[in-house]
Amino acid sequence: MPELPEVETVRAGLEHLLVGSRIRRARALRKDLRTDIPDLAGLAGVELTAVRRRAKYLLIDTSGPTILNHLGMTGQWREGAEVRPHDHVELHLADGRRLAFNDARRFGLFELCRPDGGHTALDGLGPEPLGDGFAGAVLRAASRRHRRSALKAMIMDQRIVVGVGNIYASEACFRAGIRPGLAAGRIAGPRLDRLAVEIRGILAEAIAKGGSTIGDYRQVNGLSGLFQNEFAVYGRAGEPCRRCGSVIRQGAIGGRSSFWCPRCQR
Ligand code: ZN
Repeated sequence: MPELPEVETVRAGLEHLLVGSRIRRARALRKDLRTDIPDLAGLAGVELTAVRRRAKYLLIDTSGPTILNHLGMTGQWREGAEVRPHDHVELHLADGRRLAFNDARRFGLFELCRPDGGHTALDGLGPEPLGDGFAGAVLRAASRRHRRSALKAMIMDQRIVVGVGNIYASEACFRAGIRPGLAAGRIAGPRLDRLAVEIRGILAEAIAKGGSTIGDYRQVNGLSGLFQNEFAVYGRAGEPCRRCGSVIRQGAIGGRSSFWCPRCQR
């Protein structure tokens, strides 16, 4: 499932393709994804002005309504005249180009909202991990409210900080040297400060590499991301730790598959 770096990579690709163009016609090829696709007639003739991201949602601003889009598990945006299986929404641009939102599993979302982002999907979200509102203090405060939560489950809680999913949570815990299953309330403040730094660092590195491709995720240009080649622990159960040689362990934390090094992470 795409996490923040993958969505941010798609955002940058869409910004490059869309901003400054005009929609001639928007068309849904089915009535629903995870939710109903609304009537798109109001997008005819609008100018595309910006592509933003909030958490894992894409907000495509126009001179009319804003498009609220979520990639779900398998969502992809692609430019091209050819209609592919699982193309569910088409944007026909005034310059003749066609962009399609493709989503084989249909856990994605394509809705319209006001430009100020008034949509219930965006309510109650925590700070952006790469923004000014996120630092060790956020994790320290959360660890006092969620003392018994496993650390990894806590940093994946979208009310605490957005966009940190299963992959980057495992990798950030490795870099911070903390076992992902430790109870949040037992971890000293300076270690949480370090974890916040590592979360920001790994997300920025992954964005620079075009995200991580596991399964269906592709950039808007059709290319895979490259960060999956950098994983220290995720998906490496039974293999040697690149730092110390210990065998990487795997276990479920909060119902999600988790990976850690028994020696590097305490
Ligand atoms: Zn190790």
